[in-house]
Amino acid sequence: MEPDVCQLVELLGVLWYPEETSAVIGGPDRGMSCRNVLLTGCSSGIGLALAVRLAKDELKRFRVIATMRNLDKREALEKQAGPALDKTLEIRQMDVTSEESIRRCVEGIPQRRVDVLVNNAGLGMIGPVESQSVAAMKNLFDTNFFGLVRLVREVFPDMKRRRRGHIVVMSSVLGLQGLIFNDIYSASKFAAEGFCESLALQALKFGVNISLIEPGPVVTEFERKLYEEAACMDLSAVDQETLDIFQGFYMAYSKEVFTVLGQSPDEVAEHTAKVILAEKPPFRYQTNSLYTPMTTLKHADPTGNLPLNAFHQMIFQHDRLFKASLSLLKMLQWRKRRDVSYNKSP
Ligand code: NAD
Repeated sequence: MEPDVCQLVELLGVLWYPEETSAVIGGPDRGMSCRNVLLTGCSSGIGLALAVRLAKDELKRFRVIATMRNLDKREALEKQAGPALDKTLEIRQMDVTSEESIRRCVEGIPQRRVDVLVNNAGLGMIGPVESQSVAAMKNLFDTNFFGLVRLVREVFPDMKRRRRGHIVVMSSVLGLQGLIFNDIYSASKFAAEGFCESLALQALKFGVNISLIEPGPVVTEFERKLYEEAACMDLSAVDQETLDIFQGFYMAYSKEVFTVLGQSPDEVAEHTAKVILAEKPPFRYQTNSLYTPMTTLKHADPTGNLPLNAFHQMIFQHDRLFKASLSLLKMLQWRKRRDVSYNKSP
């Protein structure tokens, strides 16, 4: 059997650093050997874009194990991976709510070597809290929070033993700052952030890095599924005033926010690739600089009143100003995209 490109690069690493024959599996790579990247939720969105971005890395620095819950949905990834498929990218099944499925997948990786874990699989949820069932909330936490915990329990001990590794977690700006009608989703991302902040202290001692990626809105299936669910939500237990805010304000502006401020999955994948490649990866990384002022408010006032009042005023008192700001941003984004396309033309 012919060695694949990754094996050849690893072999080169051994020739280059003959004193470190361990460079093939588990030893220091000095950027020479391929890193095994285990990625979750790769049938769509950010996971798919990142899997493709890493698998097509020009310097062939990664061997991507792209996982998805349902392998019947592999077609989009196979198509975009193109010639990288079964060379620098392989597709495997993994449901992050099942310990058995996670174990089976990790056991299938040679030496169980996961150099980089990207915890990306996630679910969204919007709406007044009284319209959502506790079962649905538990299901969301089972994926967004306990899915992360299960994966970490599976790969972190090996990383500690090898004294290297990188755990990258797809969080959100809503893991830093709550947003109206995103109560449960935001809570799940806060949980992930708290978990990682605690774990990072131990990880540092073992030479393992942890990074939280915090995107703002990203235009993916995520958004479509949210609106689909909102359209058939049972709102019978919700009072009229709350309904008016949810349907009249939140739903109307949320779509506008995604259109104006939303990033593409490719943009988020590019930012995440930078974090993975960084010599000293940051613990937190926001992909959309337009959201930095929102999260900075929180740190400016330890009582927490500053962001709360700012959001309250923006939603309930200055909604016209908010609308005008969105229109201005829309125009600026349009001009930016237009300039980019002009620059691209020959
Ligand atoms: P997406 O819906 O396209 O991707 C989520 C993926 O997770 C899907 O492929 C889905 O099948 C998978 N998934 C769900 N439950 C799973 C399970 N039990 N096991 C394995 N896979 C499962 O949406 P996306 O925007 O690409 O979301 C990716 C991550 O980014 C999520 O964690 C999400 O919370 C986060 N995020 C998204 C946005 C956004 O606006 N889209 C913003 C910030 C953060």
